[in-house]
Amino acid sequence: MFESLSDRLSGVFERLRGRGALNEADVRAAMREVRIALLEADVALPVVRDFIERVTEKAVGQSVLRSITPGQQVVKIVHDALVEMLGGEGADGAASELMLNVAPPAVVMMVGLQGSGKTTSTAKIAKRLKEKSAKKVMMASLDVNRPAAQEQLATLGVQAGVATLPIVPGQSPVDIARRALQAAKLQGFDVVMLDTAGRLHVDQPLMDEMKAVAEIADPAETLLVVDALTGQDAVNVARSFSDQVALTGVVLTRMDGDARGGAALSMRAVTGKPIKFAGTGEKLDGLEAFQPGRVAGRILGMGDVVSLVERAAETIQVEEAEALAAKMAKGLFDMNDLRNQLKQMTRMGGLGALAGMLPGVKQVKNAMANGQVDDRILVRMDAMIGSMTPKERSKPELINAKRKIRIAKGSGTTVQEVNKLLKMHQDMSTAMKKIKKMGGLKGLAGLFG
Ligand code: GDP
Repeated sequence: MFESLSDRLSGVFERLRGRGALNEADVRAAMREVRIALLEADVALPVVRDFIERVTEKAVGQSVLRSITPGQQVVKIVHDALVEMLGGEGADGAASELMLNVAPPAVVMMVGLQGSGKTTSTAKIAKRLKEKSAKKVMMASLDVNRPAAQEQLATLGVQAGVATLPIVPGQSPVDIARRALQAAKLQGFDVVMLDTAGRLHVDQPLMDEMKAVAEIADPAETLLVVDALTGQDAVNVARSFSDQVALTGVVLTRMDGDARGGAALSMRAVTGKPIKFAGTGEKLDGLEAFQPGRVAGRILGMGDVVSLVERAAETIQVEEAEALAAKMAKGLFDMNDLRNQLKQMTRMGGLGALAGMLPGVKQVKNAMANGQVDDRILVRMDAMIGSMTPKERSKPELINAKRKIRIAKGSGTTVQEVNKLLKMHQDMSTAMKKIKKMGGLKGLAGLFG
């Protein structure tokens, strides 16, 4: 398991308490830990080196804020530097929007390796443009190498409610692009999305084909699609593509998986282009504007406690949040609290939105629904807790085999599900204790606020 950066740093800085400013030797010691954390998060080595250098320069001599420990101070400096390097928090909205204000049809060209999620991302973005910006979008697949690639896009088009260019067998990618532009002009489409062919590896014919298409289509946006799980390899891919075509942005897919987000940092560093979207699932609504703050938290190995706190604060009453934070800080977290949490999860967008943010939630989601997001689970969990006695709710350790059978019966669920609920509670309690060690949720929120 990954040891979180704050855990590591607290060791380094234990002897530091009370000192006024961060000195160079201590910062260097801390940076050794940061370095390991970044490498574990799959950030490419040259990017790590560069980052460490910058942060060291920034950190040495900074005075330690009174309310936090030197270790926390360094985590904050590293966190802020990560956010900045990932594109900056403030620029979030602007960076994630596509620049399509050209004479229609605006062309969005999608490039990347085969299997990166290029076709899926094409359809996701088309759907988003249609729904969020009321754009009339047409998609065209230029992939004439992979059998069924064009049909795949057509199928996704039907699912997304987005038009696709009718398939004409035997045409070259450039011909298809030309035809797409003509059709779009004639039929009054605002945006044409070109899904170019992928390859298993970067090779010259692929690059030449891409350049030829770019030449005739003059894309307003050229987005490189990269699988976040490729980690270290992402750098080579990014470099090859950005050397050959004028990229305008990056789409990082499979951010719903176990990737620790390091690829994001590498991509940004190598291409110098903003990461515009994160792919967060196989379904067509699994696409989000890229959020540097969240990814920074993930790279630092803090789950996503920071943004969880932010989102919680948006959705629930402030007092409610504070009461919960106080309870968490004390390490008290019983079934009643879990029940409240489940209610809030529903309000915050369900398990899907929360998976990966709160330690423990993801495992339960996977275990209970075979990876499928199913918010009916929240209802079932609520029913299970409802079938517990008040005593059981405040002392879940009382729940033995016999009681489990009764709870399952009472809630119309199974003993396995009751077990999973208890496991989730346990996982969350453990996570809360960890957070407590760091000074509580409120401390964390303040640290990054
Ligand atoms: P392409 O070869 O680059 O066009 O890749 P595809 O779009 O066909 O995607 C390959 C596989 O990855 C498909 O099974 C997709 O459903 C899946 N996929 C794409 N994006 C994501 C994502 O963000 N998360 C997850 N979990 N799966 C994804």
